[in-house]
Amino acid sequence: MQRILVIEDEQEIANYLRRGLVLEGFLVTVAGDGPTGLAAARETAHDLVILDLMLPGLDGLEVARRLRAASDIPIIILTARDAVADRVLGLENGADDYLVKPFAFEELLARIRVQLRRRQTGQQSDVLRFSALTLDTAARELRVHERRVELTAKEYELLELFMRHPNQVLTREVIYDRVWGYDFGGESNIIEVYVRYLRQKLEGGGVARVLQTVRGAGYILREE
Ligand code: CA
Repeated sequence: MQRILVIEDEQEIANYLRRGLVLEGFLVTVAGDGPTGLAAARETAHDLVILDLMLPGLDGLEVARRLRAASDIPIIILTARDAVADRVLGLENGADDYLVKPFAFEELLARIRVQLRRRQTGQQSDVLRFSALTLDTAARELRVHERRVELTAKEYELLELFMRHPNQVLTREVIYDRVWGYDFGGESNIIEVYVRYLRQKLEGGGVARVLQTVRGAGYILREE
């Protein structure tokens, strides 16, 4: 398993990163400030660092510089503003890439995969299959048996999330994080609504239900 060190003082974002990365199969260490992050990097070998620039105590640029002085570990910086100066300074101080907040988790994941690629064994396939469903993620195209089914953007994202994690309960929190983003506000039944839309489309023509409700927990893609 690959190990990622997250150095981020904002609890909400740190939790969002942890949940998402754990779901993707990474081991995750979270440090809430620069010195703790540097200590964690010294104590345990990590495969990649996600580093917030605005940190209390020791700022992110200094953390990047010290990490880089100690090893060639890939560093992805998170910045609050799309300031060219921040980006240039970050890259000069040894970062490999940077992302501006707020960012989509999928975007971060893509950047992580680029950085880890040289060590990764086996690429993710473009075509996901489950039961009667075939999802071509390059063309963003769904077939149920041989029938082509049109999806809206959100329906597609929701289904792709389930198809990348079959037979695994996805909590409402994880679904919000991944499909609607961590800053999605307030109480809402939007997940229920979209699950209903998806079921209608997937079950057309009498196809058996695969998107199941797990009471009190969330949803799962599973054959009955
Ligand atoms: Ca911060």
